Amino acid sequence: MRPQTISLDTTIIQAAWVAVAAFLLTVASLLLQPAFARAALWPANAILVGLLLRHGAPVRPLSWALMGVGLLLARLSLGAVPAQALAGGLADLAGVGVAWLILARFWPLDNLRTPRAVVRMLLAGLSAAAVTVALGLLTGFWRPPATALLENIVGSVFGQWLGYCLFLLPILLLPGMAPSGADRRHRDRGLLQHLWDWPARMPGFLLAASLALCFLLGGPGALLLPFAALLYCTHAYQQWTAAWLALLSALGVLLGFEAGWALVPGGLLSLFAWSRISLQMGVLLLMIVPLLMSSALAARSDLIVSLNRALDHDDLTQALSRPAFTRGAQEYLQRVPPAPYGNGLMMLDIDHFKLLNDQHGHAAGDNVLREFSRTIRDAIRPEDLFGRLGGEEFGLMLPDCSPEDAAEIAERLRACVEKIRLYLDSDEPLRLTVSIGIVHDRQGPPAGLAKLLSHADQALYQAKSQGRNRYCVHGAEEAEEAGGEAEPSPT
Ligand code: GH3
Ligand code: MG
Ligand code: MG
Repeated sequence: MRPQTISLDTTIIQAAWVAVAAFLLTVASLLLQPAFARAALWPANAILVGLLLRHGAPVRPLSWALMGVGLLLARLSLGAVPAQALAGGLADLAGVGVAWLILARFWPLDNLRTPRAVVRMLLAGLSAAAVTVALGLLTGFWRPPATALLENIVGSVFGQWLGYCLFLLPILLLPGMAPSGADRRHRDRGLLQHLWDWPARMPGFLLAASLALCFLLGGPGALLLPFAALLYCTHAYQQWTAAWLALLSALGVLLGFEAGWALVPGGLLSLFAWSRISLQMGVLLLMIVPLLMSSALAARSDLIVSLNRALDHDDLTQALSRPAFTRGAQEYLQRVPPAPYGNGLMMLDIDHFKLLNDQHGHAAGDNVLREFSRTIRDAIRPEDLFGRLGGEEFGLMLPDCSPEDAAEIAERLRACVEKIRLYLDSDEPLRLTVSIGIVHDRQGPPAGLAKLLSHADQALYQAKSQGRNRYCVHGAEEAEEAGGEAEPSPT
């Protein structure tokens, strides 16, 4: 019974917030309508679709019903006659439904980091806009004058579509609720993170200046003035920042034209003519081109990141490749100032791996390598470097790690490997052991990576010759013979 109660509660909560959101957004859009009259901008439906998609859960019939009630009440509360309010509410509900149906199929897999995803979003908005206007005409909610029927219908569709083009992507891309498909590692430069960084602020500054010029200079080219700066922002900032800057610019331009800030020749923006459609198309392009460009740049940056990852990682074990490990380890060793505890370096070699290959086959050996690498990667810190040096031999760099801690970690890793149970071709699990050689960069005179690796290799050889499944520390025996400070004793 309990799961049913929870699901009923969730359904009611979802339906309630959807109804409240539909009501508030429609009231706000109705109140703001005069400020965007020339473009016939209608943001409510697009924002609703964005919120529903971000919420992620399937929209239940109760939610659709209450959304319809919210849309109806919003119009009634602002004085519409009931029949008109009902027809308007139905038209909006149908539009939201169409956009949601199209986009929810790709959500949240669709990570909006490709131009194709953006185009799909724009087409869903266009379909929703067409459905809303068509239903508005059919139900008699909206009766355009017969003298300018076509331009009124096109203008209304564009007004609705403008809402989707302007608001949907900025809402969907807002950080914190990014779709699970989005790769959150790739954060490029954000506007707010670099408030005091002049080169990073330059695109934002140029955008503000070109918007100001748009209003000060006016004229037929006013709409195009922020375009270049927006493209610059698209190149400099991450996708969500670019989308929000494009939205704010488009709203600013529309408000400016409406309020008379921009000195546009009167006849250019008359309210009921093809010039309204021209304005809507201009604003659409002002928004769409930067959105498409930023998604293309995001797709390219994802590709570069995955290519770099492929270059830096060993395909079989997902450990770092030898060159990437060497590069990273060298950077740690040359760090200024040096790490307070110095750096530990290990060489790990699976015991009797050739025998395992001979007995169970090469494919089984590959499985073992994968499992071994996964075990070690799970057991180390994010800043540690784990790389495959060749065959069944691996390197592990432990930055800012004392000799005692390095020995402790080696023992922990050895025990982890000993616990691996792999079932290959029999019911008996395959047991795995590893030998480890350790060196610490504060133990002897300063040495480069090549020297340290050769010392770790000597310690590894010692561990092998003492019976395997153990770790040895380079120089430990000499220190003991010389009566020096005792190193941590190997197992
Ligand atoms: P020891 O305990 O002394 O380390 O002996 P060992 O058998 O582990 O070491 P040895 O160096 O003699 O053998 C390593 C084997 O690893 C030989 C090689 O065929 C195998 N090998 C190297 N690369 C791969 C690989 O990518 N996959 C598989 N399955 N085997 C590999
Ligand atoms: Mg081996
Ligand atoms: Mg070996």
